[in-house]
Amino acid sequence: MKLTLLGVWGPFPAPGGGCSSYLIEDGQTRILLECGSGALGRLRKMYPGALSLDAIVLSHMHADHTGEIDLFRYMLEFGFGVTPLPVYAPETDRLRYPVFAPTETHDGMTVRIGLLSLHFFEVRHAVKTMAVRITDTAGHSLFYTADTRLFDGLKDAAKGADLLLADACLVDESNPNALRNHMTVRQVEALKNAAGCRRAILTHLFGGNDALPPLFDTACAYAVEGAIYEI
Ligand SMILES: [Zn+2]
Ligand SMILES: [Zn+2]
Repeated sequence: MKLTLLGVWGPFPAPGGGCSSYLIEDGQTRILLECGSGALGRLRKMYPGALSLDAIVLSHMHADHTGEIDLFRYMLEFGFGVTPLPVYAPETDRLRYPVFAPTETHDGMTVRIGLLSLHFFEVRHAVKTMAVRITDTAGHSLFYTADTRLFDGLKDAAKGADLLLADACLVDESNPNALRNHMTVRQVEALKNAAGCRRAILTHLFGGNDALPPLFDTACAYAVEGAIYEI
């Protein structure tokens, strides 16, 4: 499967950047994971005609992950894409439009979307939030932490993933309020090793950071918009 980083910032974008949004593709299967600011313009640049998506997956309903879901609705209402489009999210009140086919996700749920299998795992954030492990038919897997603090169980959920796509919003490790909702850069590096993941991309980078600390682990990298990874 192929991962394209569309938007990598949170909870607001860095100058010129976009918020959480990732495209997952495997053959003809295409899933938009998160729909933050900037997602639609970037997708339309890749696929200028009617966009053929199999589903949108939203980890939670915070604006930096869902900011353009209504723009997506407008695009579908104007005929740019097949409807109703399946949308998976832990809360579906905002998705009740004829162009969407919403499904509420819950801890332990597994769904098959085209060639890909998705397994949801509830994490610890300010609102109900689902991490997801996405596995292709060859057994390659991506584990996306969504927004979460570090907690017992995350390591097991991420175990052995080929690629860990992880919330590394925090550089400063001293703010207890922030630590309740997000992970630090160092926590993500440690999680990658504890879970035995082959490599990690640190994403949901704080949009207000002027500089990010150097990474110790060469199998870890900061997310860069437009980057593509084969998993
Ligand atoms: Zn966020
Ligand atoms: Zn959030």
